[in-house]
Amino acid sequence: MSTPHVSACSRCAAETPEGKLDPTGWCDACRAELIPRANVWGWVACVAVALLYLGWMVWAGMFGHLFMMAWVVLGVGLAFLALKVARRVAFEVLRARAMSPRR
Ligand SMILES: [Zn+2]
Repeated sequence: MSTPHVSACSRCAAETPEGKLDPTGWCDACRAELIPRANVWGWVACVAVALLYLGWMVWAGMFGHLFMMAWVVLGVGLAFLALKVARRVAFEVLRARAMSPRR
């Protein structure tokens, strides 16, 4: 019989108050372990997009262009989006890998 109002984390089995687990049943501590690793992947994607964009700007002769600042702002926006998306995707991938049974 499980105690009401407490549920066990599906990864570390730590007892956590009901409603504190995320939809896949992970506690805050387990999620916190993955976040720095997901951040690394997010920054890798962010820098990669920024460099590609910078390379494109040089290739397309955008420096000195009338709307150069607008293009730079767009590039920063794209790199930031890449950071957010890659971080989110990396988190899901790392979690799926951690949840799959080890052989
Ligand atoms: Zn846990």
